[in-house]
Amino acid sequence: MTDALTFLYHYARARRDANVRSRDVLERAQARRFARFASRVLARSPYYRPFAGRPLSAYPLADKRLMMEAFDRINTRGLKRDELVAAALRAEATRDFSPLAGDVSVGLSSGTSGMRGLFVATRGERLQWAAAILAKALREGLRERHRIALLLRANNRLYETVRANGRIGFAFVDLALSFAAMLRALEAARPTVLVGPPHVLALVADARRSGRIALAPQAIFAAGEVLEPQDERAVADAFGVRVDQIYQATEGFLGITCARNVLHLNEEHLIVEREPLGGRRFVPVVTDLRRATQPIVRYRLNDVLVERAEPCPCGAAQLALERIEGREDDVLYVRGASGGVVPMIPDFVRDALAGAYPAVRDYRLIQRNVDSFELRLDAADAARAVPLARAALDAAFARAGAAPPRVELAGPVEHDLLRKARRIERRFALEETAWARS
Ligand SMILES: [Zn+2]
Repeated sequence: MTDALTFLYHYARARRDANVRSRDVLERAQARRFARFASRVLARSPYYRPFAGRPLSAYPLADKRLMMEAFDRINTRGLKRDELVAAALRAEATRDFSPLAGDVSVGLSSGTSGMRGLFVATRGERLQWAAAILAKALREGLRERHRIALLLRANNRLYETVRANGRIGFAFVDLALSFAAMLRALEAARPTVLVGPPHVLALVADARRSGRIALAPQAIFAAGEVLEPQDERAVADAFGVRVDQIYQATEGFLGITCARNVLHLNEEHLIVEREPLGGRRFVPVVTDLRRATQPIVRYRLNDVLVERAEPCPCGAAQLALERIEGREDDVLYVRGASGGVVPMIPDFVRDALAGAYPAVRDYRLIQRNVDSFELRLDAADAARAVPLARAALDAAFARAGAAPPRVELAGPVEHDLLRKARRIERRFALEETAWARS
C-alpha cells in the first residue's frame, strides 16, 4: 500500500473504533483485540511468547527500566538496544533525523526522571499513530483542508510522509531553532492547527500579544507536558481559541480532549489498568493493542491521573479524566505543621501560583530538601509579583497542613525550548513512602 492509502485505512479504522458509547461494547472489543494482539504480535516476542494463551493479568508488569533491560527480547524484529541508542544519539547530535534503521525510526524519551527510554516504530506504525491522532483531533474530518504546525523537540520522517496526503499539510518546527527563527518558521507555515508543548505555546502567545507574530489558528493542542492553568489562559486569551490537549508520550498516543474539552483515554486501542493512589487518583498501567515492533504490555507510566467524578456529557465510553496531575516523581515532601514529613501534591502549589497570574507570568519552584525551595519568577513588576507569590505559597502550604516553606528567590525563569518544562520539581530522593502505594 502507498503511504496515503495506509494513512487513510488507519484513519477510517480509528474513526470507527473511537466511536463507542457503551462500556460493555468497549470492553468486549478490547478483549477481542487483545486476543488478536497476543496471537499475532506477542507470539513473535521472545520475552512474551511464554505467556501465549494466558489472560492479560498473567503477563508481567513493565516499566522504563524493564523496557531498557529486556529490549532485545521484547521487540519482535530482533533489534539490538545498543545499536539503536547509538544511532539515536547520533541523530540528536546532528539534528539529522533522516537515517532510519531500515524502516524503523528510533526515539529516546527525554528522561526527566533520570533514565532515558528507547522507543522504536516502523513507518506503518508511525502512519497509524498520526492517523489515530488526526482521526480524533480533526473532529469535522478530512473534508476541510488543514495546515498543521507541530512544535517538536525531535524530527521524524513521519511528517514528510503525511504531507503526501493532499488534504493535510504538516510543518515541523524544530524547537532547537532560536526563538526568533522558530517564530518566522511558524508564521511561514500559517497553521490552521497548532500543536506544541504548553510552555512553548505560552511563549508564542506572548509574541502574538506583543505583535511579533501574526497567527490565526482555528485549533490549538497542548501536547507532551501537563497543561497548567496559566498557560491555558495565556494561550486562549492571545488567540481567542480554546486549548485542547493531546496526552502523548514516547510510549504512545494515550488520550485527547473531546468536543466538550474533557480528556479521555484512548481505550479503543489501549487497555488501562489502574494502580490506585486513593480517591480518584491512579497511576496508569497501559497495554497498547496496536504497537507491533515494540510491544507495550502492562507498562507502568510515571504519571498520576485523576478520574472525572461524573461521566463526560459527550457520551464517549472511554474513561474521562479530570486532569493529568503530573509525574509521580513530582510529589513534594515537606514538614508537617505538627512535625514529621508529609507528602504534598504539586497541584496545591500549581493552583496557588496560577492564581497569582498575570502578575506572576511564569515560575519554577525547585525543592532542594525537605525544608527549602528555590523560586524563579517571570514578572513585569517583580516588586508586586514576589509578595504575591510568597503569599500564594504560604496559603497553599497551610491548606496542605504543612509548615510555611523557606523560599529563596533565584532570578528569572531560564527558558529552554528543548527541555521539558517542569514548573515544580523535587530534586532530592526520599525513600518510597507508604503513602505512594496506599
Ligand atoms: Zn467527552
